[in-house]
Amino acid sequence: MTERAILVVEDEPHIRDIVELALRFHGFRVTSVATGEDALAEVERNQPDLIVLDVALPGIDGFEVCRRLADRRVPVIFLTARDTPADTVHGLTLGGDDYVTKPFSVEALVARVRAVLRRTVEAGRSETAQDAHILRVADLELDESRWQVRRGGTQIALSPTEFRLLAFLMEHQGLVLTKRQLLEHVWGYGGQSQVVETYVSYLRRKLAPLGPPLIHTQRGVGYTLRAP
Ligand code: CA
Repeated sequence: MTERAILVVEDEPHIRDIVELALRFHGFRVTSVATGEDALAEVERNQPDLIVLDVALPGIDGFEVCRRLADRRVPVIFLTARDTPADTVHGLTLGGDDYVTKPFSVEALVARVRAVLRRTVEAGRSETAQDAHILRVADLELDESRWQVRRGGTQIALSPTEFRLLAFLMEHQGLVLTKRQLLEHVWGYGGQSQVVETYVSYLRRKLAPLGPPLIHTQRGVGYTLRAP
Protein backbone atom coordinates (compact mmCIF):
# COMPACT_ATOMS: atom_id res chain seq x y z
CA MET A 1 0.00 0.00 0.00
CA THR A 2 1.30 3.45 -0.83
CA GLU A 3 1.99 5.82 2.00
CA ARG A 4 -1.14 7.79 2.82
CA ALA A 5 -0.82 11.53 3.36
CA ILE A 6 -2.41 13.00 6.46
CA LEU A 7 -2.83 16.70 7.18
CA VAL A 8 -2.94 17.56 10.89
CA VAL A 9 -4.53 20.88 11.81
CA GLU A 10 -4.06 21.76 15.46
CA ASP A 11 -3.04 25.02 17.11
CA GLU A 12 -1.75 23.45 20.33
CA PRO A 13 1.88 22.58 19.53
CA HIS A 14 2.04 19.82 22.11
CA ILE A 15 -0.96 17.92 20.74
CA ARG A 16 0.13 18.60 17.18
CA ASP A 17 3.56 17.06 17.85
CA ILE A 18 2.13 14.00 19.55
CA VAL A 19 -0.37 13.35 16.76
CA GLU A 20 2.23 13.93 14.08
CA LEU A 21 4.73 11.58 15.72
CA ALA A 22 2.17 8.86 16.26
CA LEU A 23 0.95 8.96 12.67
CA ARG A 24 4.50 8.97 11.34
CA PHE A 25 5.32 6.05 13.57
CA HIS A 26 2.42 4.16 12.03
CA GLY A 27 3.70 4.78 8.52
CA PHE A 28 1.71 7.80 7.40
CA ARG A 29 3.16 10.79 5.63
CA VAL A 30 2.26 13.78 7.76
CA THR A 31 2.08 17.51 7.22
CA SER A 32 0.90 19.66 10.09
CA VAL A 33 -0.30 23.23 10.32
CA ALA A 34 -1.60 25.41 13.14
CA THR A 35 -4.43 27.40 11.54
CA GLY A 36 -7.48 26.90 9.36
CA GLU A 37 -6.09 29.29 6.76
CA ASP A 38 -2.89 27.26 6.46
CA ALA A 39 -4.95 24.09 6.27
CA LEU A 40 -6.89 25.36 3.26
CA ALA A 41 -3.67 26.45 1.56
CA GLU A 42 -2.07 23.08 2.26
CA VAL A 43 -5.05 21.17 0.84
CA GLU A 44 -4.75 23.34 -2.25
CA ARG A 45 -1.05 22.49 -2.59
CA ASN A 46 -1.02 18.80 -1.72
CA GLN A 47 -4.34 17.04 -1.62
CA PRO A 48 -4.11 14.88 1.53
CA ASP A 49 -5.85 11.52 1.88
CA LEU A 50 -7.32 12.55 5.22
CA ILE A 51 -7.41 15.58 7.51
CA VAL A 52 -7.20 15.45 11.31
CA LEU A 53 -8.90 18.74 12.11
CA ASP A 54 -9.15 20.48 15.44
CA VAL A 55 -12.51 22.23 15.80
CA ALA A 56 -11.33 25.05 18.08
CA LEU A 57 -8.77 26.99 16.06
CA PRO A 58 -7.86 30.66 16.09
CA GLY A 59 -9.18 32.50 13.02
CA ILE A 60 -11.43 30.28 10.94
CA ASP A 61 -12.41 27.23 12.99
CA GLY A 62 -12.50 23.58 12.01
CA PHE A 63 -16.16 23.68 10.96
CA GLU A 64 -15.51 26.58 8.62
CA VAL A 65 -12.48 24.83 7.16
CA CYS A 66 -14.64 21.79 6.52
CA ARG A 67 -17.41 23.89 4.97
CA ARG A 68 -14.94 25.45 2.57
CA LEU A 69 -13.73 21.97 1.66
CA ALA A 70 -17.26 20.76 1.03
CA ASP A 71 -16.73 20.20 -2.67
CA ARG A 72 -13.75 18.01 -1.99
CA ARG A 73 -13.68 14.34 -1.17
CA VAL A 74 -11.06 14.36 1.52
CA PRO A 75 -12.33 12.70 4.72
CA VAL A 76 -12.02 14.54 8.02
CA ILE A 77 -11.54 13.39 11.59
CA PHE A 78 -12.45 16.20 13.95
CA LEU A 79 -10.79 16.75 17.28
CA THR A 80 -13.58 18.02 19.53
CA ALA A 81 -13.71 19.27 23.08
CA ARG A 82 -15.60 17.34 25.71
CA ASP A 83 -18.30 20.02 25.88
CA THR A 84 -19.11 19.97 22.16
CA PRO A 85 -22.94 19.61 21.92
CA ALA A 86 -24.21 16.14 21.03
CA ASP A 87 -26.10 17.27 17.92
CA THR A 88 -22.96 18.93 16.59
CA VAL A 89 -21.02 15.74 17.18
CA HIS A 90 -23.76 13.77 15.44
CA GLY A 91 -23.61 16.13 12.48
CA LEU A 92 -19.87 15.57 12.22
CA THR A 93 -20.21 11.87 11.79
CA LEU A 94 -22.39 12.18 8.69
CA GLY A 95 -20.75 11.77 5.32
CA GLY A 96 -18.13 9.26 6.37
CA ASP A 97 -16.25 11.62 8.63
CA ASP A 98 -15.49 10.87 12.24
CA TYR A 99 -14.47 12.62 15.40
CA VAL A 100 -12.31 12.06 18.48
CA THR A 101 -12.99 13.83 21.75
CA LYS A 102 -10.13 15.42 23.66
CA PRO A 103 -8.34 14.17 25.63
CA PHE A 104 -7.84 11.17 23.38
CA SER A 105 -5.29 8.40 23.21
CA VAL A 106 -3.10 8.54 20.12
CA GLU A 107 -3.70 4.85 19.51
CA ALA A 108 -7.43 5.48 19.39
CA LEU A 109 -6.88 8.31 16.95
CA VAL A 110 -4.65 6.16 14.73
CA ALA A 111 -7.32 3.46 14.78
CA ARG A 112 -9.93 6.01 13.63
CA VAL A 113 -7.64 7.27 10.90
CA ARG A 114 -7.21 3.73 9.61
CA ALA A 115 -10.91 3.01 9.86
CA VAL A 116 -11.91 6.16 7.98
CA LEU A 117 -9.30 5.55 5.29
CA ARG A 118 -10.51 1.99 4.92
CA ARG A 119 -14.09 3.17 4.65
CA THR A 120 -13.07 5.69 2.05
CA VAL A 121 -10.96 3.25 0.08
CA GLU A 122 -13.38 0.37 0.34
CA ALA A 123 -16.50 2.48 0.00
CA GLY A 124 -19.55 0.35 -0.44
CA ARG A 125 -18.03 -2.68 1.18
CA SER A 126 -19.45 -3.48 4.57
CA GLU A 127 -17.11 -3.19 7.48
CA THR A 128 -16.62 -6.66 8.82
CA ALA A 129 -13.94 -6.49 11.44
CA GLN A 130 -14.52 -3.88 14.10
CA ASP A 131 -11.48 -1.79 14.71
CA ALA A 132 -10.74 -3.70 17.87
CA HIS A 133 -7.67 -2.15 19.31
CA ILE A 134 -6.02 -4.21 21.98
CA LEU A 135 -2.97 -3.14 23.95
CA ARG A 136 -0.87 -5.85 25.58
CA VAL A 137 1.95 -5.77 28.11
CA ALA A 138 2.94 -9.16 29.53
CA ASP A 139 -0.29 -10.75 30.81
CA LEU A 140 -2.12 -7.43 30.89
CA GLU A 141 -4.57 -6.75 28.08
CA LEU A 142 -6.59 -3.61 27.44
CA ASP A 143 -9.31 -3.54 24.81
CA GLU A 144 -9.94 0.08 23.89
CA SER A 145 -13.07 -0.55 21.86
CA ARG A 146 -14.78 -2.62 24.56
CA TRP A 147 -13.39 -0.73 27.54
CA GLN A 148 -12.20 -3.96 29.09
CA VAL A 149 -9.04 -4.78 30.99
CA ARG A 150 -7.81 -8.27 31.81
CA ARG A 151 -4.79 -9.56 33.63
CA GLY A 152 -4.01 -13.24 33.18
CA GLY A 153 -7.54 -13.60 31.83
CA THR A 154 -9.17 -12.06 34.92
CA GLN A 155 -11.27 -9.02 34.20
CA ILE A 156 -10.47 -5.86 36.17
CA ALA A 157 -13.08 -3.19 36.75
CA LEU A 158 -11.66 0.30 36.21
CA SER A 159 -13.16 3.76 36.37
CA PRO A 160 -12.96 5.78 33.12
CA THR A 161 -10.02 7.80 34.48
CA GLU A 162 -8.16 4.70 35.63
CA PHE A 163 -8.80 3.17 32.22
CA ARG A 164 -7.43 6.18 30.34
CA LEU A 165 -4.40 6.34 32.61
CA LEU A 166 -3.64 2.66 32.13
CA ALA A 167 -4.15 2.90 28.36
CA PHE A 168 -1.73 5.82 28.16
CA LEU A 169 0.89 4.00 30.25
CA MET A 170 0.50 0.85 28.13
CA GLU A 171 0.77 2.75 24.86
CA HIS A 172 4.09 4.09 26.06
CA GLN A 173 5.32 0.95 27.78
CA GLY A 174 8.95 1.08 28.80
CA LEU A 175 9.04 4.89 28.63
CA VAL A 176 9.12 7.13 31.67
CA LEU A 177 6.14 9.48 31.61
CA THR A 178 6.26 12.60 33.72
CA LYS A 179 3.38 13.51 35.99
CA ARG A 180 2.82 16.56 33.84
CA GLN A 181 2.52 14.42 30.68
CA LEU A 182 0.07 12.15 32.43
CA LEU A 183 -1.98 15.08 33.67
CA GLU A 184 -2.17 16.62 30.22
CA HIS A 185 -3.03 13.44 28.40
CA VAL A 186 -5.29 11.69 30.85
CA TRP A 187 -6.94 14.63 32.58
CA GLY A 188 -6.52 17.19 29.84
CA TYR A 189 -5.13 19.94 32.05
CA GLY A 190 -2.07 20.86 34.02
CA GLY A 191 -3.47 20.39 37.51
CA GLN A 192 -2.13 18.97 40.75
CA SER A 193 0.34 16.11 40.48
CA GLN A 194 -1.19 14.45 43.55
CA VAL A 195 -4.12 13.38 41.41
CA VAL A 196 -1.71 11.31 39.30
CA GLU A 197 -0.18 9.72 42.39
CA THR A 198 -3.63 8.88 43.70
CA TYR A 199 -4.77 7.23 40.49
CA VAL A 200 -1.52 5.33 40.03
CA SER A 201 -2.03 3.91 43.52
CA TYR A 202 -5.60 2.88 42.60
CA LEU A 203 -4.30 1.10 39.50
CA ARG A 204 -1.53 -0.64 41.41
CA ARG A 205 -4.00 -1.84 44.01
CA LYS A 206 -6.21 -3.34 41.31
CA LEU A 207 -3.36 -4.95 39.36
CA ALA A 208 -1.33 -6.23 42.31
CA PRO A 209 -3.47 -9.23 43.33
CA LEU A 210 -3.06 -10.69 39.84
CA GLY A 211 0.71 -10.62 39.39
CA PRO A 212 4.04 -8.84 39.89
CA PRO A 213 4.23 -5.02 39.72
CA LEU A 214 3.93 -3.45 36.26
CA ILE A 215 3.85 0.26 37.12
CA HIS A 216 7.16 1.54 38.45
CA THR A 217 8.02 4.88 40.02
CA GLN A 218 10.86 6.89 38.55
CA ARG A 219 11.71 8.95 41.60
CA GLY A 220 11.30 12.68 41.06
CA VAL A 221 10.12 12.19 37.46
CA GLY A 222 7.07 10.05 36.99
CA TYR A 223 6.05 6.53 36.11
CA THR A 224 6.77 3.77 33.67
CA LEU A 225 4.82 0.63 32.86
CA ARG A 226 6.83 -2.40 31.78
CA ALA A 227 6.72 -6.16 31.76
CA PRO A 228 8.11 -7.75 34.94
CA1 CA B 1 -7.42 24.12 19.51
